[in-house]
Amino acid sequence: MGPTQDVPTVPLPSGEHVPVLGQGTWGWAQDPAHRGSEMQSLLLGLDLGLTLVDTAEMYGQGAAEELVGEALAARRDEAFLVTKVLPYNAGHMDTVNACERSLKRLRTDRVDLYLLHWRGSVPLEETVTAFEDLVRAGKIRHWGVSNFDPADLRDLAEVPGGDAMATDQVLYNPARRGIEYDLLPLCRERGVPVMAYSPVEQGRLLTAPVLEAVARRHRVTAAQVALAWVLRHSGVIAIPRAGRPEHVRDNHAALALTLTDDDLAALDAAFPPVRGPVPLDVL
Ligand code: NAP
Repeated sequence: MGPTQDVPTVPLPSGEHVPVLGQGTWGWAQDPAHRGSEMQSLLLGLDLGLTLVDTAEMYGQGAAEELVGEALAARRDEAFLVTKVLPYNAGHMDTVNACERSLKRLRTDRVDLYLLHWRGSVPLEETVTAFEDLVRAGKIRHWGVSNFDPADLRDLAEVPGGDAMATDQVLYNPARRGIEYDLLPLCRERGVPVMAYSPVEQGRLLTAPVLEAVARRHRVTAAQVALAWVLRHSGVIAIPRAGRPEHVRDNHAALALTLTDDDLAALDAAFPPVRGPVPLDVL
């Protein structure tokens, strides 16, 4: 398998391209027995071109960022690093300070994409101003949001500078289709990619009979079916977390899978598309 060239990319609004398949890190660095495998998985993913690495100050209260920093120490420039500020750190100076702490843990001088983890009570103006300051200082390269529903995105667009956001990271997989009705079209209209988290529903989807049946047809795994399904849209990035190298390989190979109309119909029958607006699912 070639190193990076076989991973399709999607443009951010800035025109910079990022891989459509990245790597998540929620729950990592919690068990010393898994640390080696988690680091190895991350580096294998990098070798395979899954260079978009998603983490957050929240994960393990900084421990996941530290693991990512350690793993990437010698390969920082190969990665597109995404991390997140917690809503209660999202005031102007609090955001700047939270970013400095993340940079230290990540052992780097810049975050490629900095997200507001979810909307809290801090006015969006304050967070956007902090993001703009961080961009000017070269500490972050792009910024975006997470768990914003269409109403939140409209509010953000009203804030001066708010239209510079680069992504909305939201829950999306066959069992969580609400965003197809409104959020996905809205982001597409604005040229903003959607970043799909928990694309295999934290593993719970992998025993769904329909996924297993489609997987058998293609001689692939249920995880690959779920990922191919999420990635069937243009403008969608998936960030599965795989703490075992064999799962990283499996997920990477999902890029070669194209689902047929029959597969999609079977998946629609088991996981019907929504017919109207539904509240944004979150995990
Ligand atoms: P996920 O990626 O849907 O599922 C992770 C689980 O699936 C792990 O137990 C993993 O096992 C297993 N898995 C992955 N690939 C597999 C494969 N090919 N075969 C079999 N099992 C496989 O769940 P997630 O971690 O919740 O979501 C992904 C990332 O999205 C997170 O890590 C985080 O970075 C981000 N996220 C963001 C938010 C937010 O609010 N913004 C919320 C949730 C998640 P192993 O670890 O054993 O490989």
